[in-house]
Amino acid sequence: MRRGFLVRPRPARECVTQGPTTGPASTSSPSKQKLSSSPPPPSPRRSKPFEEADPIHRSVSLLPLGASSSPEGLVISFRSNLELLLAHPWVDRAFLRQCEAVELRAVEGKGLGLVVPREVGEGEVLVRERPLLVIPEVVRTDVLQQFEQLLEHLPLGRRQAFGGMHNVHPTEGAFGVHRTNCVGLDFGSGMDGWRGAHAGTFEWIGRANHSCAPGAVVAWDGETLTGRLVALRPMSEGEEVRISYLSPGELRLPTAERRRLLWEDYRFVCECERCGSAYTNGLGGDAS
Ligand SMILES: [Zn+2]
Repeated sequence: MRRGFLVRPRPARECVTQGPTTGPASTSSPSKQKLSSSPPPPSPRRSKPFEEADPIHRSVSLLPLGASSSPEGLVISFRSNLELLLAHPWVDRAFLRQCEAVELRAVEGKGLGLVVPREVGEGEVLVRERPLLVIPEVVRTDVLQQFEQLLEHLPLGRRQAFGGMHNVHPTEGAFGVHRTNCVGLDFGSGMDGWRGAHAGTFEWIGRANHSCAPGAVVAWDGETLTGRLVALRPMSEGEEVRISYLSPGELRLPTAERRRLLWEDYRFVCECERCGSAYTNGLGGDAS
């Protein structure tokens, strides 16, 4: 691929924004937004606020999320975005994961999945989690070429967590892991001047399997810089938590179309309660 080309790996899974969008980050002064072509301001919290990821295109940089001694995730984005993010009060606070009402368990025929260990109500937060990685949805090829090196900025344990996730695009290496597991995030909510749509990969949330009748949704909390898995309806003890990998518009498509999209991006034939069995309905399916 030629350097400088823009590639859109695929539309990220749907995500909704949750939580206050106001806060210190949203009060950034207009002058901060004008810093995009200037060196980053000195930070009282980090001696080395972020590192150049790309010596050629100096506008792309990375910033660790969480305590600087052991970051939980990386944000790879434009320098101007990271300058905005650097002012966020949660950017260097440790927050790995808070499991409210979900467990990681083996799910028959699907490997690991998320299961609720007790009854949960509609709107309940099942887990909150820091992303392992956030990058723009449209990724430049020069960033892709350095993707594995960029991940080395994560501590070993977090790199291993990332590497252990499902990958339906193995020829793309680590980037295939991100493509397989990422969700679209309204990452810049509350940060005036934020550029571009971004997608994030989460260690646990990424384990949620798909259903065309999902029981949960991923929501981004711009106040604490965490993803939340939120129940869309009451769920009973032992029920698997599934999200939709398709957009709301795609969910309205006929079964055959939904199955085609899911196969193209995730390489599985959906047999959820809406799609029915691939064997009884045929791969196209008759259900809606
Ligand atoms: Zn389905």
